[in-house]
Amino acid sequence: MSVKTNLQKILTELGSVQLVAVTKYAAPEQVRELLDAGHFVLGENKVQSAAQKAEQYKQYPVQWHMLGHLQTNKAKQAVRVFEVIQSVDSEKIAEAINKEAAKINKVQKILAQVNIGREPQKSGIAPELLEKLLVYCKELKNIRLLGLMALAPDLPDKEQTRPYFKAMKELFDRYAASYGLEFLSLGMSGDYPVAVQEGANMVRIGSRIFGGE
Ligand SMILES: *Cc1c(COP(=O)(O)O)cnc(C)c1O
Repeated sequence: MSVKTNLQKILTELGSVQLVAVTKYAAPEQVRELLDAGHFVLGENKVQSAAQKAEQYKQYPVQWHMLGHLQTNKAKQAVRVFEVIQSVDSEKIAEAINKEAAKINKVQKILAQVNIGREPQKSGIAPELLEKLLVYCKELKNIRLLGLMALAPDLPDKEQTRPYFKAMKELFDRYAASYGLEFLSLGMSGDYPVAVQEGANMVRIGSRIFGGE
């Protein structure tokens, strides 16, 4: 199926849930097809790839979302490229983003990434350390923390991801009012229907749009 057909099908399914279309494995003509279909919220894992694509597609009003782990030495470039940095998982990286955003008079939108499955190979802050990060970010003038992001463990039966999404929704509900959280970014191609059922209002989908799954 074409990119446009896949997009329309997913958007219909999602209703008011926001879609970040993940372009990291997409071919340039596929990205163009998506943009020509009018979808401009895109996600990338690496600062460098997003910077290149931002240049390549600069005639479109793209909002780039950073989804991969961010190193402090890339914060300078990241604040120049991304509308939202979804992968903030330490006070150190929040501070670096704040400092670089201040230099260009920007208030950088971010999400806090939680390692909800406590998987050593994955980024994200441990759930019990999240509130400390939220408190810290509230004091920083050049970042605005808009919500939470997480990846569920990659389990063969997607139904098994449900408890992880439920746990994220509980964290979100616990902190939303005090910290002004709006977005709960959960779910990828394999598990987004479960994520949406459990309360995600933002999903990040690559292969379901661009093929490969
Ligand atoms: C690659 C990636 C996605 C999209 O994955 P698909 O399975 O292709 O939909 C979503 N979120 C993050 C953090 C990713 O790295």
